[in-house]
Amino acid sequence: MVAKNLLIMGPPGSGKGTQAARIAERRGLAHISTGDMLRAAMAAGTTLGRRVKDIVDGGDLVPDALMLELVMYRLGQPDTAAGFLLDGFPRTVAQAEGLIEALSGDQVLDGIILLEVPEDVLVERALARGRADDTEETIRHRLRVYLDSTRPVLAALNGRLDRADIDGVGEMDEITARIEAALGA
Ligand code: ADP
Repeated sequence: MVAKNLLIMGPPGSGKGTQAARIAERRGLAHISTGDMLRAAMAAGTTLGRRVKDIVDGGDLVPDALMLELVMYRLGQPDTAAGFLLDGFPRTVAQAEGLIEALSGDQVLDGIILLEVPEDVLVERALARGRADDTEETIRHRLRVYLDSTRPVLAALNGRLDRADIDGVGEMDEITARIEAALGA
């Protein structure tokens, strides 16, 4: 697939953050993680951070309009010119439609990397990772939110963007190699 402006999608705990950082680094793409952006805003105690804290801590979704604004601002920065890898966005069909509509002619989405990991493996991994927003209840809730709100994005974009479905179970390096093989030279 054309591997310039990409989305990486996958359930919480699929390892998409780690893989996104690696793939972006190797390919010189701007890695845009909305989860990282929100956590940084929360840690810095900015207006945005205070506004989203309870939502993020509870494993719910920040409102679409706010996320779209945040992402479009970020996509307007010069380091995205060589390509970008969006990690954690879009997370709803409305975000996906909003993104496609808001991108101007010189920025088009090329493809989706989908990391596939079975549910029991996800819960196990997330508990072992131990991030502040990772209690078992929150993990299960975030998984539910993924299935209800994010998974439908794949159907909505089906046939409109190339997609590489990647088996996300295995060693980190092995999974990176699978993604690289799917993206091609
Ligand atoms: P994970 O990698 O575990 O799936 P992220 O780091 O991507 O989680 O995001 C953490 C939290 O930040 C989400 O559970 C959600 O509350 C919020 N968030 C991140 N991206 C979005 C988005 N595109 N829309 C709404 N909320 C978001």
